[in-house]
Amino acid sequence: MRRSVGAAVLLSILAATPSFSAGVSARRAQPVQVAAAESVVPAASGPAAALDVVIASDVHAAQANDMTRLVFDLSASVAPRAFVLADPNRLIIDLPEVNFQIDPSAGRSAVDTAKKPVGKAAARNLPKGKPVEAASVKPLAGVISSFRFGRFAAGKSRVVIELAEPARIVRIESEDGKDGQGARLVLDLARTDIASFALSAAEGARLSLKPREEEKLAATVPAGNDVRPVVVIDPGHGGIDVGAHGASSTLEKTIVFDFAKSLAARLKASDRYRVVMTRDEDIFVSLSERVKIARSAGAALFVSIHADTLSDAASVSGATVYTVSDKASDAEAARVAENENMADAAGGLDGVDDVTDVSDILFDLTRRETRAYSHVFARTLIGYIKEHARLNKNPQRAAGFRVLKAPDVPSVLLELGYLSSERDLTQLRSLEWREKTAASVSRAVDEFFAGRLPGLPTGRAVATDVPAPPDSGVARVIH
Ligand SMILES: [Zn+2]
Repeated sequence: MRRSVGAAVLLSILAATPSFSAGVSARRAQPVQVAAAESVVPAASGPAAALDVVIASDVHAAQANDMTRLVFDLSASVAPRAFVLADPNRLIIDLPEVNFQIDPSAGRSAVDTAKKPVGKAAARNLPKGKPVEAASVKPLAGVISSFRFGRFAAGKSRVVIELAEPARIVRIESEDGKDGQGARLVLDLARTDIASFALSAAEGARLSLKPREEEKLAATVPAGNDVRPVVVIDPGHGGIDVGAHGASSTLEKTIVFDFAKSLAARLKASDRYRVVMTRDEDIFVSLSERVKIARSAGAALFVSIHADTLSDAASVSGATVYTVSDKASDAEAARVAENENMADAAGGLDGVDDVTDVSDILFDLTRRETRAYSHVFARTLIGYIKEHARLNKNPQRAAGFRVLKAPDVPSVLLELGYLSSERDLTQLRSLEWREKTAASVSRAVDEFFAGRLPGLPTGRAVATDVPAPPDSGVARVIH
């Protein structure tokens, strides 16, 4: 019901803002709650979680005449910086770190409730510069199609608003609390023409700074002359990018982070590997940054952990292991890769910053060999995880996942299961299932390195009943 912003409700929101209250009835109803203020976002942890972090406790969205307003209720005022980006049309608000104690579903639009939050698939349905009429894509309020909020980098938070049509920022400011009210962040938006929006978006692209990669790399690359192989564990999504979400409040970023921590702890405990996590807290990390972390750490293996969702097929379930390929093995793999590749857009980044495809024969040979090893590990992994986890009916697939594109690091993406499947969801939330499955993945890593590392058990039969997807190059490279 949160989308039906009725006149009375709208008046109450507008009246609650001094500059909008002139000419509006003094009657003050309860401001509309876009979502329950129930906190499902864990409080920030780590060094950034100082006591003075500003708390956002609620959010309201409304439209009046030609103006769309978004208001966050805050514990103290903050200094916002806002800009727009095109393709898809978005508005980004950068803030100092804010602890959002708000249901992450508060900003979802009608279509989003069953699918991934945003992306090109949704954007394609939105005719640019025209009012949205399609019943399937209903803006949340006015020009706002949907919005997300969360941590972006250390000490930084972000709000990303998907625009239903080109819009300009009329006002953005943070007001201190007065007259018994708390502080607020108020954003007013109005429609604009395509040409003006394009100009603003070009400026926004220059403002869109990526997280400072050097700091991250310095913190994650193990030092010294340790010769143990580096295994990089990549918990998908994080921070403002929540990933997939099922009907419940379970978020992919949380499920995969818990799993990744368990896996990393097991690998570390074996003392056979140097283990690097691409994120060790609830923070946004871009896809290209994840690849860079793996490459600069000299990774011998990269395992990206995800969980998928399907809006219309609750019967589809089980774990799937993906490798990278230029051509998707099937339509489902292509869909999953397209969704996962939207992570940067979800975090408010501009453009794609992939590893350059160099047409060099040595580069090509390296990449082919890397892909062959990726397939070996994918098959090994499937052989082990089927001991405790249920597999998808077609458990080994391939598609153009950007996070798997390091040309010199064998990489796989493990989709643990589907948040849209009740069976999978029960397992994904189970501590016992997580520990057993993480143990299986850990044994698959041992198997992958067996023979190359002294003291590791060897000779376990690898599942051979799973055909390699197209474009594997296995036969050409492995001798
Ligand atoms: Zn994912």
